Amino acid sequence: MPRSEHNISRANISSAALKVLYRLREGGFEAYLVGGSVRDLLLGGHPKDFDIATDATPEQVHGLFNNSRLIGRRFRLVHVRFGREIIEVATFRAAAGHDDDDHEIAEGSGRVLRDNVWGTLEDDALRRDFTVNSLYYGIGDFAIRDYAGGVADIAARQLRLIGDPEQRYREDPVRMLRAARFAAKLDFEIEADTAAPIERLAGLLDNIPAARLFDEFGKLFQSGHAYASWQQLQKYDLTRHLLPLTHMWLNNDPEGSRRRFIEQALRNTDERVATDKPITPMFLFAIFLWGPVSGRARQLTEEEQMSDVQALALAGAELMAMQCQRIAVPKRFSLPMREIIQMQPRFARRTGKRVQSFLGHRRFRAAYDLYVLRGLLGEVSDEELAWWTEVQQGVAVGEGDGGDDDTFGRGKKRSKKTVRKRPRKRSKKKE
Ligand code: ATP
Ligand code: MG
Repeated sequence: MPRSEHNISRANISSAALKVLYRLREGGFEAYLVGGSVRDLLLGGHPKDFDIATDATPEQVHGLFNNSRLIGRRFRLVHVRFGREIIEVATFRAAAGHDDDDHEIAEGSGRVLRDNVWGTLEDDALRRDFTVNSLYYGIGDFAIRDYAGGVADIAARQLRLIGDPEQRYREDPVRMLRAARFAAKLDFEIEADTAAPIERLAGLLDNIPAARLFDEFGKLFQSGHAYASWQQLQKYDLTRHLLPLTHMWLNNDPEGSRRRFIEQALRNTDERVATDKPITPMFLFAIFLWGPVSGRARQLTEEEQMSDVQALALAGAELMAMQCQRIAVPKRFSLPMREIIQMQPRFARRTGKRVQSFLGHRRFRAAYDLYVLRGLLGEVSDEELAWWTEVQQGVAVGEGDGGDDDTFGRGKKRSKKTVRKRPRKRSKKKE
């Protein structure tokens, strides 16, 4: 598609990406913008990152840029850094032994395909997942190369796998989650033949390494379209493979309040992303597991005569361990998640010194956010909710902490011992 027939303007391409494209070309190589950035440019958006494909080998690319690093354990790539921006440069290749984050892609049989088999531009185009992710914008002639029909699919706003859908899902079952994610993010339809095998093959997701699913979880729920992603996962019955405990909990929901609890939490998450507030998977897992954990805890208090705090602690540990078999949640998220769940009974006590120390707890804010949502489950009365809402705004708290948000959200405790620097920004960006 020549320059005159599309709307991509170099003004919407980052100067770093343009520099890399031009330098590769001056070095005598082919250089193309590829993947999500071309798709998003055609849709009139402003891509957040730019990937480049070239016929230069990683070593040749590295040789052209001082500010570059060879990365990837098995699927070798080059990162070229310009300040905070990183441009990823990949060599055309044929086989798809890895996804673009260097996660191993096993074949249906479990055999890992060979890596780093260099190929032509056409080979590279056909190993990609969806047609709309397989467009190349050339810096030589500003034309778009489309080997899979991606331009037409963008116009039709549909996601279509390249090749035989069943075979492509068997090669890499994560493509089912990617279909749901892109449908949500782009507000595209999943084309009928691409959608058809999903429910039947969804069980293949059970064989995907839990660490890879943690990365995928972040992309689904922390990129500003968590609610839409959730709806797609539900529509294609994928939730049961990612969040089996949540899935079972939602199966018993006559009034729909459980569904509304999850949906509201996800809309809040999207709202936070839209307004640039930090988000963390620890809160998302607290939401997804609150119902199952509190249910199990109730059982423990009845059968084992445990206190509610003890029971929540035990149930939290038990169910998080089960969840981690699917999605490997790092301890830095799962421990605070269990903490804010265990803190919930403290909202039942509204007198005495403990209120003050509770308000000063460094996780008070997150615990309160969960507490507010519990209102949708009928677990919190309007009166209680109003009380805590007022108190946490610092209005009804007696003397002492005059209480602006900051004092309460990050109380004194933080300065004590666990000033562990959590990479806040990264936890939001790491999708
Ligand atoms: P986003 O804007 O959400 O990052 P993206 O299209 O850039 O979307 P990535 O996950 O960053 O998606 O992957 C970059 C490109 O790599 C994709 O556009 C696609 O061409 C290719 N790709 C990634 N994962 C796979 C996979 N599992 N199978 C085949 N191709 C893949
Ligand atoms: Mg990308």
